[in-house]
Amino acid sequence: MRKAIIAGNWKMNQDSKDADHLFHELQNLDKGNAEVIVFPPFIYLDRFINLSSKHIRIGAQNCSQFSSGAYTGEISGRMLRSLGVDYVLIGHSERRQFFGETTQILKDKINIALEEKLIPIFCCGEPIIIRDNGTYIKFVSEQIMDSIGQLTPDKMAKLVIAYEPIWAIGTGVNASADQAQEMHLAIRDLINSRWGEDISDKLRILYGGSLKASNALELFNMQDIDGGLIGGASLNAEEFKQIIEIANESI
Ligand code: PEP
Repeated sequence: MRKAIIAGNWKMNQDSKDADHLFHELQNLDKGNAEVIVFPPFIYLDRFINLSSKHIRIGAQNCSQFSSGAYTGEISGRMLRSLGVDYVLIGHSERRQFFGETTQILKDKINIALEEKLIPIFCCGEPIIIRDNGTYIKFVSEQIMDSIGQLTPDKMAKLVIAYEPIWAIGTGVNASADQAQEMHLAIRDLINSRWGEDISDKLRILYGGSLKASNALELFNMQDIDGGLIGGASLNAEEFKQIIEIANESI
């Protein structure tokens, strides 16, 4: 039995006042059995950690691949851990696309995060051209093995994976439940073949890409979908709460 995760990625949205308002609206949520994580922009982490109740865990949207030093503008894993951050997103397609994050950078970030006892949510997913030419399972399997294939079983056991097809992120077009389930099962099989059944059975695999209250049920009803990484719909407190409710009923 895997515990559902519902994670809200606010990306680079919300000014200070709006962020406070949104976080405040989430504070009374009923998380049920699900684990609820909010990923606000860095500058709000400190105050949300101080405000956060046991209902909401706090994650960072990124961390540096370096441990410390002369890297102007960067935020280290140790800084995040010392604030009380629990999770960090690594490999989001927007970071790969707009900030040139390569496989080597992602490997370094995963290692740093694990050293600092942050739980990485490793994001993977194919562009539309790969979906259309039918090689999407091979593509995502390579993304996973290239960046995390080197992890020892004890490290792998700490990870969460988010499957986020790039063509579904922010487009309003989600992967169908069957398309998502096919990929989630392929990912679980891959993890099984590399690290064994115990780790693959316990691994939480989240779906992300235009997930909203209206499509959450069909996605969460799928056997290998253990929750969601939610962008746009996480900026609306009521909708985010509805998604949490649906997860509690169906996962
Ligand atoms: C995301 O960027 O992680 C995401 C899933 O965004 P959206 O829900 O807006 O598609």
